[in-house]
Amino acid sequence: MARRKVKMNFVKNIALIAHDNRKQDLIEWARFNKDILAQHNLYATGTTGQLLIRELGLDVTCLKSGPLGGDQQVGAMIANGEIDFLIFFWDPLEPMPHDPDVKALLRLSVVWNIPTACNRATADFMISSPLMHTEYERIILDFEARRKSFLERFKVNTWEQPEDSSE
Ligand code: PGA
Repeated sequence: MARRKVKMNFVKNIALIAHDNRKQDLIEWARFNKDILAQHNLYATGTTGQLLIRELGLDVTCLKSGPLGGDQQVGAMIANGEIDFLIFFWDPLEPMPHDPDVKALLRLSVVWNIPTACNRATADFMISSPLMHTEYERIILDFEARRKSFLERFKVNTWEQPEDSSE
């Protein structure tokens, strides 16, 4: 499939989410990295965001709480090119009512080739990467070209599917 590049600026749009049992970890991690985080645009699900504001005084745009649609909002922002870095400390030991939303968000972060940290060690490696201080071009699969090609070859009133020639 065709590929294209998406530019990440020096100032990155970072989404932060932590499930309740992981919030302590996220706040400690964010406290340690506060000076770096403050150089970027920060977004968070509702409760996580409020804690980051209250405990660390960071400037954070708060979305809805995760179980009320916040994870889906972050996913939509990724699809719209508005988020380019995800810190998501999800809880591997507790079932969540919004598990489908969690899975959907993780799927979109892979589809859009977003750097994603689900634990503290990965987050440490990501935030200390030299790439944090540069522009970076993410390579993504060009689904738009595939869709355009499908639409061009699609014939109405037939049960035949167009051959997929975009691979
Ligand atoms: P919260 O949402 O930050 O509002 O707690 C996190 C989540 O459960 O996804």
